[in-house]
Amino acid sequence: MDIRIQKIIEGLFCLEDLREIYRGALPTALSPEEEVAFGAKFDELERIVDEIRTGTGHPRVTRIAETIELRLREEAAINIQPIQAAGRLTPEARKALTVWGDGYSVCDACRKPFRLDKICKPPIATFHEELAAFVGMDQARVVPGARRGFQAVASSLVQKGDWVLLSALGHYTEYLAVEQAGGVVHEIPANDARVVTADAAAERLEALVREIGTPPALVMCDHFDYQNANEHEVAGIAKLAHQYDAPFLYNGAYTVGVMPVDGKGLGADFVVGSGHKSMASPAPSGVLATTDEYADRVFRTTEIEGDLTGRRFGVKEVEMLGCTLMGGTLVAMMASFPHVRERTQHWDDEVRKSNFFIDRLLAIEGSACISEYPRKHALSKVDTTGSFDTVAKTHKRKGYFLSDELSKRGIVGEFAGATRAWKLSTYGLSWRRVEYLADAFDEVAEKYGLVVRR
Ligand SMILES: *Cc1c(COP(=O)(O)O)cnc(C)c1O
Repeated sequence: MDIRIQKIIEGLFCLEDLREIYRGALPTALSPEEEVAFGAKFDELERIVDEIRTGTGHPRVTRIAETIELRLREEAAINIQPIQAAGRLTPEARKALTVWGDGYSVCDACRKPFRLDKICKPPIATFHEELAAFVGMDQARVVPGARRGFQAVASSLVQKGDWVLLSALGHYTEYLAVEQAGGVVHEIPANDARVVTADAAAERLEALVREIGTPPALVMCDHFDYQNANEHEVAGIAKLAHQYDAPFLYNGAYTVGVMPVDGKGLGADFVVGSGHKSMASPAPSGVLATTDEYADRVFRTTEIEGDLTGRRFGVKEVEMLGCTLMGGTLVAMMASFPHVRERTQHWDDEVRKSNFFIDRLLAIEGSACISEYPRKHALSKVDTTGSFDTVAKTHKRKGYFLSDELSKRGIVGEFAGATRAWKLSTYGLSWRRVEYLADAFDEVAEKYGLVVRR
């Protein structure tokens, strides 16, 4: 790792310490002791700046609060871990975190009717309108993760004993949201190509409605699933759900924030996205959007009343427990949003990079792509049983040889030790980085005598 990375972080920390002096000082002026402390810190900053300029020095700060290590992998390496790719913060989000990180920071200017999505400074109210439009829906709320979106919907629409139809490749949090609401799940099977089709949904839906006697309380499907990132027939499944008067939830954890999503165009009653997975936002963050038709149910306001005091709580929304993301998380999400909205227009280039890399990997004899191919997503599941795993069989480091070789080349995030089926994402990598990545796999392959077709 370039020592300048370490030194930039030390410089940032040093600036934070300078800043802290003001947080303890009188608003009028620094005291003589504080001026001395400021001067000493400033000298330290100058030394660090010098080390940044000359690329010299040794790591001086390796922990935060003694126990927490520094996380510099996004600066020092190419990280191909699928859940990290589109959640990496923009510089704007990182700046937002530094000045809006304090507790309930966004609540400084909270005015009647006292609800997060109504705050105008910073422009949270406008952000909510933009978010709804971004996913092609009428109304949106920010939620602490996609899972909290599923939870709010299931809690509103699923009664004890109700059933929910979901994809057999669905995320575990969809299942848990139904469980918490007291419902049961039935699954739409994926076909041999690991795709969930509208035909399969129709068959299952028909059989289940005949057997159970009632339509499902909710139908959910991921547009692209987290296992293979195959595209599922969400529009067809939504249409089908409506034929049975069941609402459809579009799970966009791997789409909202990376590709254009038109919720109503797809027939969705709910669109759920993940901020920390796909919207360049800190965890926990996400979006739940819906139509005017369903907003009254899922965003219903409180009706409870204290029996002694008669206290009531106005327009607070029950499923949101009033307010959700109240500080740096939300502001960082907002700070990334202009970039996120823009980048969805370049999804085709991300898909091209994905296919470029997969083609290069497939040229290493014995490698296969488990995900549908050609790729329609940046995340792919590959099978290197016939290539890198043949090396692992006799290597003293077993499957770890591959992670060792990759990390030597500054590539991290593949599942350490896995040389059979594993996942990666090329999302957000520049072409230069993607080519470097493909070259690195070639180099490792050739080093161990695998055949690389040119
Ligand atoms: C990651 C993921 C989730 C969970 O998202 P959170 O924002 O962490 O709650 C849900 N569904 C799918 C398909 C995912 O990939």
